[in-house]
Amino acid sequence: MASSSPNLELRPLGNTGLKLSCVGFGASPLGNVFGSVSEQDALDSVREAFRLGINFFDTSPFYGGTLSEKMLGKALKALGVPRNEYIVSTKCGRYKEGFDFSAERVTRSIDESLARLQLDYVDILHCHDIEFGSLDQIVNETIPALQKLKEAGKTRFIGITGLPLGVFTYVLDRVPPGTVDVILSYCHYSINDSTVLDLLPYLKSKGVGVIHAAPLAMGLLTDNGPPEWHPASAELKFACRAAAAYCKEKGKNISKLGMQYSLSNKDISTVLVGMNSVRQVEQNVAAATELATFGQDRETLSAVEAIFGPVKNQTWSSGIPQS
Ligand code: NAD
Repeated sequence: MASSSPNLELRPLGNTGLKLSCVGFGASPLGNVFGSVSEQDALDSVREAFRLGINFFDTSPFYGGTLSEKMLGKALKALGVPRNEYIVSTKCGRYKEGFDFSAERVTRSIDESLARLQLDYVDILHCHDIEFGSLDQIVNETIPALQKLKEAGKTRFIGITGLPLGVFTYVLDRVPPGTVDVILSYCHYSINDSTVLDLLPYLKSKGVGVIHAAPLAMGLLTDNGPPEWHPASAELKFACRAAAAYCKEKGKNISKLGMQYSLSNKDISTVLVGMNSVRQVEQNVAAATELATFGQDRETLSAVEAIFGPVKNQTWSSGIPQS
């Protein structure tokens, strides 16, 4: 039986009462989203993550067309620990087949996800990438359907995810307080893009928890670089390659610098990083524990921030134009 060690900082998630490890386990790589991952590597990565104090695991039926949920379910079961020792989020509304945020589809979706995850409930159910749907449908139909799922005990909390930051305020301004517990924002609190910062006071005032996903900008801030499908501009990809090369030359590591940048803001409850090997789990946990002990490597960070100067806060379009 694995048991988690308490060497990772736990942070509160908005008003939920949940305490998430500051490093969270993003399970999209378990759906082979960043290249093929063996079942053994998937099981070992989750086991090592839990052993090192990671208590939060995120997936979606979209990742690998349900493969990520199945692998995560298997890996969590193999831990053999009580259900309340880990926190799981999955999503609804986005599938391999396309988007569907109807009440009927999301209601069916949670049962399918729970079966694949081999769980009786998830801790957080997110509407996945809401900028691809009608935000008024999210407010008037999807979230009320999720509230019923909450009442039925299938999820403890409700979240929304997306890339453009405006979708969060649009929805949160229109739902009753306390309806949406959490937002998951991605690629907006990394060395190259820190735009979620402006939204944090608003979210805090509403008691909404903040998950920052993709601290490595979906592979941009790694030595191996991003996958083929990555939507960044050639200019941004070039700057990321230059930053990684600079770090390497100085005996530093761009991924560690990136993790520490994202982890340094305590208003962000957890930094959700995609991992597909025991080595990556160990590196990312070490990034957090070293940050807690030694603080940020300010010299390298300033040099890398200078490299990103011309592309700072550059993003890409996602979703349908909202009226
Ligand atoms: P990421 O920025 O976490 O980067 C993941 C990539 O970096 C993978 O290729 C991984 O193998 C690699 N990596 C991880 N640690 C490394 C290390 N120490 N050294 C070198 N390479 C390393 O991007 P992501 O996986 O897309 O995002 C993290 C998680 O957040 C996802 O798995 C998913 O759970 C969630 N997420 C959700 C949304 C959404 O809801 N719309 C969007 C993006 C991410």
